[in-house]
Formats: sequence, C-alpha cells, structure tokens
Amino acid sequence: MQTSQLLILGGGPGGYVAAIRAAQLGIQTVLVENENVGGTCLNVGCIPSKALIHAAEEFHKLARYDTESPLGIQAGSPIVDIVRTTAWKDGIVERLTGGVASLLKKSGVQVVKGWARIVDGKTVEIVSSPAAQPGSGLRISCEHLLLATGSEPVALPSMPFGSQVISSTQALSPGALPTSMAVVGAGYIGMELGMAYRKLGVEVTIVEAQERILPAYDTELSKPVLASLKKLGVSLHLSCSVLGLDDAGHLRIKDAQGAESTLAVEQILVAVGRRPRIAGFGLESLLLDMNGSAVRIDDQCRTSMRGVWAIGDVAGEPMLAHRAMAQGEMVAEIISGKHRRFVPASIPAVCFTDPEIVVSGLSPGEAETAGVDAISASFPFSANGRAMTLESSDGFVRVVARRDNHLILGWQAVGGGVSELSAAFSQSLEMGARLEDVAGTIHAHPSLGEAIQEAAMRALGHALHI
Ligand SMILES: Cc1cc2nc3c(=O)[nH]c(=O)nc-3n(C[C@H](O)[C@H](O)[C@H](O)COP(=O)(O)OP(=O)(O)OC[C@H]3O[C@@H](n4cnc5c(N)ncnc54)[C@H](O)[C@@H]3O)c2cc1C
Repeated sequence: MQTSQLLILGGGPGGYVAAIRAAQLGIQTVLVENENVGGTCLNVGCIPSKALIHAAEEFHKLARYDTESPLGIQAGSPIVDIVRTTAWKDGIVERLTGGVASLLKKSGVQVVKGWARIVDGKTVEIVSSPAAQPGSGLRISCEHLLLATGSEPVALPSMPFGSQVISSTQALSPGALPTSMAVVGAGYIGMELGMAYRKLGVEVTIVEAQERILPAYDTELSKPVLASLKKLGVSLHLSCSVLGLDDAGHLRIKDAQGAESTLAVEQILVAVGRRPRIAGFGLESLLLDMNGSAVRIDDQCRTSMRGVWAIGDVAGEPMLAHRAMAQGEMVAEIISGKHRRFVPASIPAVCFTDPEIVVSGLSPGEAETAGVDAISASFPFSANGRAMTLESSDGFVRVVARRDNHLILGWQAVGGGVSELSAAFSQSLEMGARLEDVAGTIHAHPSLGEAIQEAAMRALGHALHI
C-alpha cells in the first residue's frame, strides 16, 4: 500500500489549489482525479461558459452592424461556425488544464488518474472507473483526507438528461446550433447560457418556477437584465413549472393558474441547479455529519471526522470556484501547522449576463435583515463617461455602509463589464474601508471605477456628477 500525508479527492479549483499549496509547504501530497485536472470550473464551467459568452457577444455585435450602427460602422452579414467556436474554447481549456497539470508536477504533487473509492477515513482505493470491481485497484493510505469532489448538475425526474434534454456540460460543447432552445431555470447558469445562445441566433425560451429571473439577486439588479432579455427577443415563462415531455418530444409546462401548454423546441437545457457530489465513492461509509446534501464543515473546513476535510462545492453553497480555491489554500496551511480560519469579509459573486451583475458583501435588504442600521446609495452608469463610450450606460453601482461609522458592508453593480469591479469591491470590504476612504481615493478617468467613488460620495451626500 502506498502512503501519503495528504490525499486529495478531486482536482478541481479546490483540490488542485490545496495540492499546490500543500506541496509548497513540504507536505507529501497525492491528488486523485478521474477526469482532466481543473474540475468543473476549467473543463465544463466558468472558463468554457465565459468563452462561449464572449464569442456570442462578438457575433451579436457584428450582426447589429449589419443594418445600422450609431458608431458609423457597417459590416456584412456575419456567419458563425460553431464547430470552430467550440474548438477555440477547447483550446483555452486545454491551455489552462495543461498549465494546472504542469504546476502540480512542478510543485511535486503526485497526480493519480482514476476513480477514488473511500475504504475508511485513512484509506482510499483507486480504480479505473466508478463501475470497477472493489478490491481491484491501488490502495493509498493517508494522514489527512481532503474531499474536493465538487458538484454535478441536477436533473429533473420527469425529464432525465439524454437526447434533446441537455445539461450545461453539453450546452458548452455544441456540435451544431439548434434553431430553438428552452432553458429551464433562470438562475445564473441558465441565464448566462440562454443569453449566449440567443446572441448566436437561437430562438430561446426561458421557463422559471419563480416569479422572476435571477431570484438570488434583488430586483433592482435583475431589472436591467430583464430589459436586455426582452430587447434580445427571449421569451419568458415565469411562475411556470415543467411537467415533462409529450409524445412528440415537446416540453409540457404549467403556469401559476394551472393552465398547461407545450413548447415545441429542438433542445432543452435544464439548469435548475447543482448538487454536491457525495455518491458513488463510498463517502456514506464515513457517516459524516451532513448539511442537507452537502458535507458539513466548520470554519476550518474540518468535517465531523478527525483528519477528514472538505472544501468547495461538496461542502455546499456558495458553489463558486474562488471559494473552493480559498478553502483549499487554507486547509493546506492548517495541515502544515499555520493558524487559519475561513472568515472572509465577503465572497463576491458575478453573473456574466448582459449586463453583468456583481455582488460583494451585504445588499440593503440583507443589512436590514441582519438588523444593521445602514445607508445605501447608487450611482448610475448613465452619468459615467466611460460607460457611455462603451455603449453600456444602463445599470449602476450601489454601496451599503453602516450609518454610524460609515464602515462599508457591501457593494453591488449591474452594467457592462462590471465583473472587473469585483476586486475593488472585495478589497475595500476585506480592508475595512469606510465611505470616506473610497470617496477620497483618486480613481482613473475615464473609468467605471469612478462610479464606485461617486456612489460612496453620494452616500456621504456630496456626489459631484449627479
Ligand atoms: C456552466 C457553469 C458555469 C460556472 N461559472 C462559474 C463562474 O463564472 N464563477 C465561479 O466562481 N464558479 C462558476 N461555476 C461553479 C464552479 O465551476 C464550481 O464552483 C467549482 O468548479 C467548484 O470547484 P470544486 O473544486 O469544489 O469542484 P469541481 O470543480 O467540481 O471538481 C471536482 C473534481 O473532482 C473529481 N472527482 C469527483 N469525484 C471523484 C472521485 N471519486 N475520484 C476521482 N475524482 C473525482 C471530478 O472529476 C472533478 O474534476 C460554474 C459552474 C458551471 C457548471
């Protein structure tokens, strides 16, 4: 039997970052991954989706220039070769996953390709596939076992994945574009992909059980996205549940009044959420405490069993790559003897829709629920020169701060390119900035960042450009 100090199950952003940091700190580390390293994020999540969104945006922009453009640009009718688009996206994925593999090698991590099956809290067997016979593989013992097995898309019982019913994974590698697509679920993954497909010329219909799109964000933030959906010609069926497929393969839906109808679409993208990957590798034998379907962890990512740790999506919400990475780095440092706790001031979240949404820290509603006496102020991009020159003056930046000492509690923004503001938002929260700090910072002109400064000034009662 092979031995290790740290054995990591899963090479996604949580697992591979933990492995690199652990190896840097001199911990003998083995990482087991069944697919390519990089996990959901690099292979079938964050990176491929952002590549497809960019390609769709470029195509859409050109298509607009076919007729008339206020910029005075006219171009011929654009054509998209989706097979080449997919190959370009795959090239980015390969560069990134290849880069991660090199980093792991360089830092001295032993990567074992195969399916890990837990024997006990200190022993794992590596087999060739989830279907392989137990007892047929390599056994590795460990001092520390780190669960980083991620998550998987949730299927609808009435409509399992297969043929025209696809998950985000298939939607990110289209061999051909359908003429029409229904997207079930108006969360961030469904909305990002639904908008991208629409921009590529597909007739898109969104079906959502709740009464509004992007229910995780407040209505002020989702309103510009709703307006953009309408402008793009996306059909919306809100407060509608999905019943399944009829004999002709059409999607059966039911509205809030109970009226049933069908949607004749070529493809159905089910994006109703993701669940922690906890089955199929013997995890249940450890009898860990669970938090719903996620592994329960404390603020050091320890599970209920000594020496067994969990990070990233398998440990529940928020299921975001940067959270997984931060937890992975922390666990490696704790194992090496450092004192660390996972208590970030905020975990920012970005929705790469058109326009984009970014949130970091508390919204006005969340501050109120938390019983904090807070002030908030917004600055619209319609008064920001840079936004105008980018033709994206819809949206705003909003700040939330304590009324008594002006400590900033949260930032939100919606608008073109606002994802890049997340660093400034999170840094100001992490560094304990007050409104005066941001208002007194010189922001480059012209930039979207000026809207951050103006929002802080407005909260203090002296915005200059509104
Ligand atoms: C379409 C889409 C878009 C997304 N966009 C964003 C975004 O823009 N920003 C963001 O922050 N997040 C985004 N996410 C979420 C992000 O991908 C995840 O939060 C992140 O990948 C979680 O990292 P992880 O390390 O916990 O798990 P994962 O990335 O899921 O990695 C887990 C790995 O474990 C392996 N594994 C599992 N079980 C075993 C086993 N028994 N043996 C061997 N290997 C095993 C899997 O093969 C996988 O490679 C997106 C997700 C999707 C689906």
